[in-house]
Amino acid sequence: MTVITRFAPSPTGYLHVGGARTALYCWLYAQKTQGKFILRIEDTDVERSTPESVQAILDAMEWLDLHYDEGPYYQTKRFDRYREVAEQLLKEGKAYRCYCSKERLENLRTEQTEKKEKPRYDGHCRDLKEPKSDAFVIRFKNPTDGVVEFDDLIRGKLVFSNKELDDLIIARSDGTPTYNFTVVVDDWDMKITHVIRGDDHINNTPRQINILRALHATPPLYAHVSMILGADGKRLSKRHGAVSVMQYREDGFLPEALLNYLVRLGWSYGDQEIFSRAELIKLFDIKGINKAPAAFNLEKLLWLNQHYIKTSDPERVAKELAWHMQRLNIDVTDGPSLVEIVKAQAERAKTLAEMAEKSRYFYGEVHYNEEAFKKHIAADIIPALRAIEEGLEKLSDWSKEAVHQVIADTAEKLDLKMGKVAQPLRVAVTGDIVSPPIDITLVLLGKEKTLARLTTALTML
Ligand code: GLU
Repeated sequence: MTVITRFAPSPTGYLHVGGARTALYCWLYAQKTQGKFILRIEDTDVERSTPESVQAILDAMEWLDLHYDEGPYYQTKRFDRYREVAEQLLKEGKAYRCYCSKERLENLRTEQTEKKEKPRYDGHCRDLKEPKSDAFVIRFKNPTDGVVEFDDLIRGKLVFSNKELDDLIIARSDGTPTYNFTVVVDDWDMKITHVIRGDDHINNTPRQINILRALHATPPLYAHVSMILGADGKRLSKRHGAVSVMQYREDGFLPEALLNYLVRLGWSYGDQEIFSRAELIKLFDIKGINKAPAAFNLEKLLWLNQHYIKTSDPERVAKELAWHMQRLNIDVTDGPSLVEIVKAQAERAKTLAEMAEKSRYFYGEVHYNEEAFKKHIAADIIPALRAIEEGLEKLSDWSKEAVHQVIADTAEKLDLKMGKVAQPLRVAVTGDIVSPPIDITLVLLGKEKTLARLTTALTML
């Protein structure tokens, strides 16, 4: 049997981290089993679904590099199919037309609530023989007794009494299908073998299984993943900070760090924290997913991000950094290669947003931090800066060693400590007090920019 998983987001907003984790688990399981991973956009709620949200989901999937083997399928393009299956159920007497008015249903609900009963449809139209009018919804004839049980791959055996489930509407009065029905038809048509999804869908599962059985379809296996909590133990939401995947991109996270973080948030393999993609594909298993909800921890994500900034191929990190530089309107053609920036700055930034911000001065014009300038560049340092300027001007080999030698020689000649010279020099060429080691900074800036900025600083004095 080929494993087929699907990720089935509703495009009613950005892709949030919980959804991304579900997508990751679905993707990993398909990879691991050499199965298939399908992306299905559940856009039947036309009021809440937007093309921007669809695009946001596709962008996030691409950024995370969770490629799908099939799709994206759009439920709005499958209405004919849902109608066909609803007709089939009607014909076989497994569904029925319900003509109950809004008022009747409202009264029923009030009565039940007053009696402290769970509001549910009472089956009023279930056994009608003749059509009453053109205004109807279609309801599924849920079994009235017995139980639905299934072995959740994460939670074990779950049992639901059919008495708890009423006759679900599968098509609204305007003919549009409802969520539980489209999911069933799609999971069936797409031959999904493993449904991995959030545990907010647990109560839908027995209903979906009943409909699948009515269609003589074998239900897939289900794995309901626990939710992600904020630090306060409440369900993770905007209140807790960023929840959208693309916000994490904007905040400077690498996709590999976010994925590594998300996989561990709810799944474990011993105490191991860091996993390459290849390792994940090898080691991931639904059995390793925890039942208990996990709390989001930004510190840990930052730690992982820095780990990946330091250890990933600098070429790859540079590609992601380019996106941030562009966001800051920094023209990276006018300065060192981003690969060199990554190598020099990896230790100094927890995020790429920070790295981009801290690398501004390598490109374009220098902007002096007034306070830093006043503090570090005073008349007494002019001879040192002049001497360095002269020494550097003569260099034909613009290497770290050669640059370092010029600075060290100047310090020695003027009987100054290295730091006493390096900091004013740093401020003169970068505009501020923080940069990689001074020799590396100058090498990255290049001879032309270094000398031009030294001249500017000296004339400013
Ligand atoms: N469209 C549903 C949601 O976004 C998921 C349905 C499913 O996975 O079965 O919550």
